[in-house]
Amino acid sequence: MQKNNLMEKIVSLCKRRGFIFPSSEIYGGLSSSWDYGPLGAELKRNVKSAWWNAVVHSRDDLVGLDASILMHAQTWKASGHTDNFHDVLVDCKNCKKRFRKDHIGETCPSCGANDFTEGRAFNLMFRTHLGAVEDDGGLVYLRPETAQGIFVNFNNVLDATHRRLPFGIAQIGKSFRNEITPGNFTFRMREFEQMEIEYFTRPQEAEECYRTWIKDRFQWYIDLGIKKENLRVREHPKGELAHYAQGCSDIEYQFPFGWSELEGIANRTDFDLKQHAQFSGADLRYHDQITMEKIFPYVIEPSGGVDRATLAFLVDAYDEEEVEGRTRVVLRLGKELAPIKVAVLPLLKKNSDIVTLAKQIKKDLQKNFVCVYDDTAAIGKLYRRQDEVGTFYCVTVDVQSLEDRQVTVRERDTMRQDRIPVENLKKYLSDKLF
Ligand code: ATP
Repeated sequence: MQKNNLMEKIVSLCKRRGFIFPSSEIYGGLSSSWDYGPLGAELKRNVKSAWWNAVVHSRDDLVGLDASILMHAQTWKASGHTDNFHDVLVDCKNCKKRFRKDHIGETCPSCGANDFTEGRAFNLMFRTHLGAVEDDGGLVYLRPETAQGIFVNFNNVLDATHRRLPFGIAQIGKSFRNEITPGNFTFRMREFEQMEIEYFTRPQEAEECYRTWIKDRFQWYIDLGIKKENLRVREHPKGELAHYAQGCSDIEYQFPFGWSELEGIANRTDFDLKQHAQFSGADLRYHDQITMEKIFPYVIEPSGGVDRATLAFLVDAYDEEEVEGRTRVVLRLGKELAPIKVAVLPLLKKNSDIVTLAKQIKKDLQKNFVCVYDDTAAIGKLYRRQDEVGTFYCVTVDVQSLEDRQVTVRERDTMRQDRIPVENLKKYLSDKLF
């Protein structure tokens, strides 16, 4: 498949078929804000469910949490965000474009000049106020990461669940950063969703645990269909690490705009719990019932973005192939991620018996699979529409079906067609899809 213009093709497909729309489009849009349309909402839900399933439901050592976006302002003092969550911005004096200083080299990426303003530090947190009066007493921030909601609930979760080390807390939720240079579609936005884990472990086991999480998280993307050659781990050199961190690795994906971070996995030592203990006065140590010691556990943090993962799955799944002299666009999303599993299509929409049977079949299948019914075009066009949104199976009802109670089931990737009796259809599809 030709890789040129791939991003443009994906953005256009996303708009046309209802995956992702520009936000507030009728008002001219809002810079770097995007809305997930009907299919995008399904896909994103599937990404989050796959993550939750892998890290919470399929394991014995993690529990979930859903903390609020607005938190006590002291949270961000303790975490270091109020004082340190800065990017340094510079403006090119020649073309007037603005950049993150750490994203550019000697010369302007836009015009090539080497004449920048002095760097200015810029805190990325959005501020707002609780209550009617906009004074500093009511100052709160929209959280720039979900992780701190986990740390401040450490004792609550321990008291409620009686967990023993090692154990983890997982959370999915919105985060906000006033990014200087958002862009690359949904890769860098100011409002986005994160999937984060804080995994608490004994200090002496932290290094091994960190390495295991890197492997597990890498494998998650592969299991959901990302091609291995498009994924890599980049370990941060010691000089790039935060002062408290003992290790940090990024899982990167080869986007059309270059290798870029999907998820970071960090060994954050006992920094966060100690900071919150100090700022709040709460005892956030873990009480070991066997050794009777009280320790601050170390924490391993796998922190990924829902939107970045969703974009990577879309890019990786996009394919074009020549079929009988025409280009067929296929979104080869995995079974777990495909927004629609089955489309039911009547061959002749003028034949009311065919339409009735097709609608009955759809009604029955939708108890088990996400299904759609479509009769708004000729069959060839209907197949093409389903292929380009990744629908796994098309079930076609034709005149013959009225006599022999059999339908044609077409598989997306191979385009292979099988004739299946209506009464066996659910079992046939279940065997293939689950
Ligand atoms: P970057 O270096 O790209 O700014 P980061 O290292 O600051 O990212 P983290 O703070 O580690 O990112 O956040 C964890 C994850 O949250 C990232 O790996 C990414 O998937 C997601 N994420 C962070 N910022 C954004 C954003 N502005 N838009 C979309 N997703 C984001």
